[in-house]
Amino acid sequence: MSVSPIAFIDLQAQRARLGDAVDQAIAKVLDHGRFIMGPEVAELETRLADMGGAAHCVSCSSGTDSLLLVLMAWGIGPGDAVIVPAMTFASTAEVVALTGATPVFCDVLPDTFNMDPASVESAVATAKDAGLNLKAIIPVDLFGQPADYPAIQKIADAHGLKVMADSAQSYGGALNGKPVGSWGDATSVSFFPAKPLGCYGDGGAVLTDDADLAARMRSLRVHGQGTNKYDNVAVGLNARLDTIQAAVLLAKLDIFADEIEKRQAVAARYAEGLAGIATPPAVIDGAVSAWAQYTIRVQDRNAVAATLKEKGVPTAVYYPVALSDQPAYAHYPRAGNGTPVSQALAHDVLSLPMHPYLDAATQDRILTALKEAVGA
Ligand SMILES: *Cc1c(COP(=O)(O)O)cnc(C)c1O
Repeated sequence: MSVSPIAFIDLQAQRARLGDAVDQAIAKVLDHGRFIMGPEVAELETRLADMGGAAHCVSCSSGTDSLLLVLMAWGIGPGDAVIVPAMTFASTAEVVALTGATPVFCDVLPDTFNMDPASVESAVATAKDAGLNLKAIIPVDLFGQPADYPAIQKIADAHGLKVMADSAQSYGGALNGKPVGSWGDATSVSFFPAKPLGCYGDGGAVLTDDADLAARMRSLRVHGQGTNKYDNVAVGLNARLDTIQAAVLLAKLDIFADEIEKRQAVAARYAEGLAGIATPPAVIDGAVSAWAQYTIRVQDRNAVAATLKEKGVPTAVYYPVALSDQPAYAHYPRAGNGTPVSQALAHDVLSLPMHPYLDAATQDRILTALKEAVGA
């Protein structure tokens, strides 16, 4: 008997459900021909802002560029410092370094994998001791779960710092009844295809209530334009979202809330099935995760992953090395006691297949294989 291969993220199941909607949305753009800043871009920005509980949305070319646009608009540069978690994708620290500022790494919590507020406090001291102008904190909503924004905001307020949420993985989630997009001074979102809300290429957006910040980013994403294209008032970027990608996202938004619901059901089934096998990821009180990933910790991670692969179960490791240990970032300062939790996580995290269309029978296959692989 042959069993069908298991997808880590099943974009084809979503495509089948959407039917012709995306094809028609793309065809419409091909017909009207406004490939750059066409009408779909503004329509998408309105819907994203509404759903994220923000007054303004500025779409752009990627999640990375959305982080960069905010830092540029805030005027962050050489001599400044920004606190970032050590357990994250490269972009979070990369954009800080690109502005000429210094990323200061803090550690994360061992159960939620998100920024540890105590380590953020410690990183504040590190930055000040180094004589840097500490300007901002970038909490990351790792694997889809909002960071502890109330605790982080308290620290930011005490030290006069901005907060930019790196919500690349968590758009669609919420904390204490407030949607992702409404926490901090600005929220960065990614539409990379594998994110919970993904387009068919690169894309991103910033959500904010700050009208001045939004206006500056609208200028920066088009070469720092002033009153027109040939009036350059700032050094900017070419960082617009393609109209075709906006059209794809508009079609996908119609089913997005339902997909987030479905992810809750998949996560709940995993949590139940993991009893006696592994500890399910912790979700803080009041949080709705967008479940971009379902990540557990296992001993002998690489061996377990290899056994699962043999059994036809794909897995992924986010991230195999703490960002603070990567060659490009190892020389940047870190919170007083370093980033030991991030380093430990890099050794034992394992992400299981996760998407809204993962059915119970397939999850059973995954859990059975996992149970054998860990010898439970
Ligand atoms: C994906 C991701 C980004 C970058 O998004 P891109 O759209 O790929 O540029 C930034 N931060 C985190 C935490 C991410 O997961």
